[in-house]
Amino acid sequence: MSVRDQLRAVLSTLGSQTALIAVSKTKPVELLQEAYGAGQRDFGENKIQEMATKWELLPKDIRWHMIGHVQTNKIKYMAPFVHLVHGVDREKVLDELNKAAKKANRTIDCLLQVHIAAEETKFGFDPEEVEGVVARADQWPFVRIRGLMGMATHTDDEAQVEREFTQLRELFERFKAPQEWDTLSMGMSNDYPTAIRCGSTHVRIGSAIFGARNYNE
Ligand SMILES: *Cc1c(COP(=O)(O)O)cnc(C)c1O
Repeated sequence: MSVRDQLRAVLSTLGSQTALIAVSKTKPVELLQEAYGAGQRDFGENKIQEMATKWELLPKDIRWHMIGHVQTNKIKYMAPFVHLVHGVDREKVLDELNKAAKKANRTIDCLLQVHIAAEETKFGFDPEEVEGVVARADQWPFVRIRGLMGMATHTDDEAQVEREFTQLRELFERFKAPQEWDTLSMGMSNDYPTAIRCGSTHVRIGSAIFGARNYNE
């Protein structure tokens, strides 16, 4: 199936409450153009420089989502244009985003990435740390926290995935009203239907739209 057809197939399974971020990491700009031509405007990348290169080449009404681990020394390359930084997983990233946003004369929107999976390797704040970060948000006047992001364990055990997404959703609900949060980013190609059932507002879907990634290319 073409990118256009796969995009349509994915969109047809999303409710009107859920936004689609097309995860285009490692994919050539031609495929992003195809998705753009089919109406897609939100794209996700996990490397800052790759995202900046694609931003230069593609139409300027694309909303670029930084979904990967943030290397603070690269923030300057995305500060002028990034739409939403999902992978804020330590306060140092908030410090550096704040400086870069001030310099770029703008506010940068972000999500706090929370570690909900059983795997040790995934990045993120522990759930108990979120309250403290939110309480200190005045320290970063040029950054606006809009919600949370998380990744579930990679497993066929749907009950476990559901427990993890539900935990994130409950944490999100605690701060949603007082903080005016609007974004709960969870769900990827293999688990997004579960994420949507658990209240996801933004799913990040790559391989189901663009095909499997080949990191050796
Ligand atoms: C790669 C990636 C995705 C998309 O994964 P797929 O399995 O291709 O849908 C979503 N979120 C993050 C953080 C990613 O790094």
